[in-house]
Amino acid sequence: MAIIRASCIDCGELELTVADVKVRTSSADDTSTYYFRCPHCEMVMVKPVASRTVDMLVRAGVQSTVWHMPAEIKERPSGPMIDHDDLLDFHELVHSDDVMEAITGSVDVSEVMAKVARSQAEVRLDSDHDLQGTND
Ligand SMILES: [Zn+2]
Repeated sequence: MAIIRASCIDCGELELTVADVKVRTSSADDTSTYYFRCPHCEMVMVKPVASRTVDMLVRAGVQSTVWHMPAEIKERPSGPMIDHDDLLDFHELVHSDDVMEAITGSVDVSEVMAKVARSQAEVRLDSDHDLQGTND
């Protein structure tokens, strides 16, 4: 069986078998990487590899796969950007009693978000009231 010499950034030079190494080639730009799990520290090493070396590795029996960019990478978001208030609303929603109903769809999420927004407005009013109270 062929021995493949590779290196781990922590453990140094290694001798691996063809079963230890895998090659991936991107369909987008035809670049390839090989990867393996270091038998000593168990860290996964991923390194670029030239196409002629890919050919040699595959001839030796290394498993080779072609991967494709996920379609989502070409999606462009539409609508307004998420801002800090949206994150706070989401945080309130996740911690509200209605979260399971919102997730399962048995409650209209917009109603829950409106309820959260109303409760935040009440909090702001309360804190405004407190601030006014300290000024007296
Ligand atoms: Zn290692």
